[in-house]
Amino acid sequence: MIKIKLYNTLTRKKQTFVPLDENNVRLYLCGPTVYDRAHLGNTRNVIMFDVLYRLLIETYGIDNINYVRNFTDIDDKINNKSLESGRPINDITSETIKWYLEDMAALGNLEPNLMPRATDFIPEMISYIERLIKGGFAYTDEGHVLFSVSNYKNYGRLSGRSIEDMIAGARVEVASYKRNPMDFVLWKPSEQDLPGWESPWGRGRPGWHIECSAMAHELLGANFDIHGGGNDLQFPHHENEIAQSCCAYPESEFARYWLHNEMLQVDGKKMSKSLGNFFTVRDLLDQGYPGEVIRFVFLSTHYSKPMDWNNSKALEAKNILRKWRGLLKNNFEIVPLPEEAIKILSDDLNTAGVISLLHNYASNGEIGKLKAGANFLGILTQELSDWCADVDMSSLEGLFTDLRKRAIESKNFENIDELRSKLTNAGVDVQIGKSNVALVPNASFDLQEVDKIINFYGLN
Ligand code: AMP
Ligand code: ZN
Repeated sequence: MIKIKLYNTLTRKKQTFVPLDENNVRLYLCGPTVYDRAHLGNTRNVIMFDVLYRLLIETYGIDNINYVRNFTDIDDKINNKSLESGRPINDITSETIKWYLEDMAALGNLEPNLMPRATDFIPEMISYIERLIKGGFAYTDEGHVLFSVSNYKNYGRLSGRSIEDMIAGARVEVASYKRNPMDFVLWKPSEQDLPGWESPWGRGRPGWHIECSAMAHELLGANFDIHGGGNDLQFPHHENEIAQSCCAYPESEFARYWLHNEMLQVDGKKMSKSLGNFFTVRDLLDQGYPGEVIRFVFLSTHYSKPMDWNNSKALEAKNILRKWRGLLKNNFEIVPLPEEAIKILSDDLNTAGVISLLHNYASNGEIGKLKAGANFLGILTQELSDWCADVDMSSLEGLFTDLRKRAIESKNFENIDELRSKLTNAGVDVQIGKSNVALVPNASFDLQEVDKIINFYGLN
């Protein structure tokens, strides 16, 4: 059996992963709030969990894993977008979910087993909240239900902070209906023009944190194996999930291993919608950055380190992948996934380590191993291959020959120089022979640019 080690935020240690049940390994990743396109930073946790999922599949078998990732489809940001645009909420959330799934697939991520929508679990959230009230962990005031943090002695354990620290450090909302400023909302009243559900406390809607506790409980049980998300979710979101879950089910420990990825940054600051320093995954794909290249850039840095995105990383990734895909065109023997690749990835998802190993395989000509190891990380797959398809240069070569002949005859080199500079810009070398011209892709070859040239001259 493969020995997997994971850094557990809860214990602040790298620990050997032992599932509760090898035939039912359960993981939960906090998913997106669906009101807008995902930005690049939002994909880091998905890629981290996707790699983990692939490793668990390799270890325990695909039928023995249950991977849940939710959609938060009830939220003030969604309500505001609906009010501003006049579009029904369900249109906005359904469209955003469709975009999200397309974008995540474009980056080579496998779909989780279950992708529940929060609004499909309102009755479960209501009974969860009733349980907390009954147990004396929550109270009602002015149509709100609040969780009382002082009734849970381990509050702050995950993020390693005391309640006093948290009050001082966080911008907690002080409100007349709260007994302690750290208490958080489980349920709140909804105005008539906002989504709402009937409940024992009047028409209202859930707070954010309760959805994950309720869905994880319904779909994975009171105890499960791995929970995760970005490290910005440690506090308050995950801290609050733990508090709710351990109070509602005191004999349970909720999630046993917590994985948190560091942030994608722009100039040293977290990429975020609110700072405005973001670009969406779709922007990048539309600008011609292939999904496989984006994935490779993420895999090159360990999930626990801050990282940034820049064009030179993307170009380097593109060249490596092009070279590797070129190697796969040789005849080679299919081999099983090398043990050493599994071993490296099992050390707290050391994706960068596996990439170094792939470089070794490539330079030693071990192409079967290169393919198997790369597929393990979700790269060099058939699904992500379209950006690197072979291009037929013959129409451009014909045009080049033609324009060159005319230029020599007329002594006017304007047109041929224009084509030559477009080709240089697209990463194509021009090799002029005695009787023909060969156009050969070089390391900065750019298929999109070549397509533009082909369109420009009407050769398609
Ligand atoms: P949100 O839709 O804002 O709730 O965020 C969805 C997920 O994206 C959460 O797991 C966040 O931790 C994560 N996230 C947001 N911004 C970044 C970032 N700049 N880098 C990495 N993860 C992020
Ligand atoms: Zn969550």
